[in-house]
Amino acid sequence: MAATPIKSNQALLARSLAAVWHPCTQMKRHETLPLVPISHGNGVWLYDQEGKRYLDAVSSWWVNLFGHCNPRINAAITDQLGKLEHVMLAGFTHEPVVQLSERLAQLAPDGLGHCFYASDGASAVEIALKMSAHYWRNAGKPEKTQFISLQNSYHGETLGALSVTDVALFKDAYGPMLKQNATVLNPDSRNAAIGENAHDYALRCAAQLESHLQQHHRQLAALIIEPLVQGAAGMAMYHPVYLSRARELCEEYGVHLIADEIAVGMGRTGTMFACEQGEITPDFLCLSKGITGGYLPLSVVMTTNKIYQAFYADDVTRGFLHSHSYTGNPLACRAALATLEIFATEDVLNTNRIKAAYMNRIADSLRKHPKVKHFRNRGMIWAFEVETPHADFAQRCFSLALQHEILLRPMGNTVYFMPPYVISEAEMDILVTRALQVIDQLV
Ligand SMILES: *Cc1c(COP(=O)(O)O)cnc(C)c1O
Repeated sequence: MAATPIKSNQALLARSLAAVWHPCTQMKRHETLPLVPISHGNGVWLYDQEGKRYLDAVSSWWVNLFGHCNPRINAAITDQLGKLEHVMLAGFTHEPVVQLSERLAQLAPDGLGHCFYASDGASAVEIALKMSAHYWRNAGKPEKTQFISLQNSYHGETLGALSVTDVALFKDAYGPMLKQNATVLNPDSRNAAIGENAHDYALRCAAQLESHLQQHHRQLAALIIEPLVQGAAGMAMYHPVYLSRARELCEEYGVHLIADEIAVGMGRTGTMFACEQGEITPDFLCLSKGITGGYLPLSVVMTTNKIYQAFYADDVTRGFLHSHSYTGNPLACRAALATLEIFATEDVLNTNRIKAAYMNRIADSLRKHPKVKHFRNRGMIWAFEVETPHADFAQRCFSLALQHEILLRPMGNTVYFMPPYVISEAEMDILVTRALQVIDQLV
């Protein structure tokens, strides 16, 4: 049977609700809240079949860097399509995966010369957790199997990743299936005491980390953190001194440091990798989301030669016997290489600094709004809390923003902007002006 084409928004919505189970969604909500049909994209804009447009202020769940339908990334994928779409990476290799691994090793903090690939962020976290514990087993310390993460952390939703995630909404239903891992204070600077600055608060949190490590390091394989910005916690931002201190403490107590830069890597915090701002090299660096410019699923765990060597042996079982079918997919690697090429040739980090300064100027109206609290920015991320009487603020804000041609997806009463880097000054004006209108209508 040939598929019947879908010619209208209405038909797309109805057939989607009948056939597609959408992620992170109570499907019954769609009885009243319509799905948003999208047919094509260009730059920061998404369009439906009838020409209605939305400015993608959340980079399509934090993945897009250089706009939808970017000509350079399109060309790279098209070129690769004519050569090789996929080959298994166990026992085989290909140029895109080699080029990408070499480029990433040059760009990442020193010493992360080995790249292990998967297809999504949660799998990268699973890999880092497993590699860490397996390293300790190979090193004669099989009792080191526990992990710690920060309060309100988010590392993905497969069972291992969920066990180091601290978001009750995602976790509670699966509690009995999860390994219990401890959390330590997160250095979220909104929680600093009165008169305490972000730096001192970060050090106070690091002191609590130290006492946890003192007590438990014998059982601990690794500490996993989202460097500088905890995304799903509501863009909680913290001082880079926490990174340097956590690095020292992990070293001192013989515990790995896993940097989950799935959301904050690839220039999002103003440097290529957030770890650079704490001047640290983690034992494992997890990347995904923006790595392909938001085009194709790809993730990578980068690690050190010391860890790599602990698996290198005649004995098969000392090896890291983990795999995914699409590991190192050539199309995804070419999208990632094209993305890195744009960084290299278009001075993206500097241009973003100028864009961020512009945004901060025009967003002063938001910062000073009487109902806006904790307005904050790091790199190309902005966030603030809205004082609102509505318990369902996030949903109201989302719906109202769509009417103003803006795609905002607040978390609770936290509104954030995480736009594609190609956003222009005129588009930033549209974003800020309309966000203000939406907030004024909701408070
Ligand atoms: C999105 C995200 C993940 C999970 O990535 P998926 O591709 O959605 O599985 C893990 N950690 C962080 C910090 C993320 O933002």
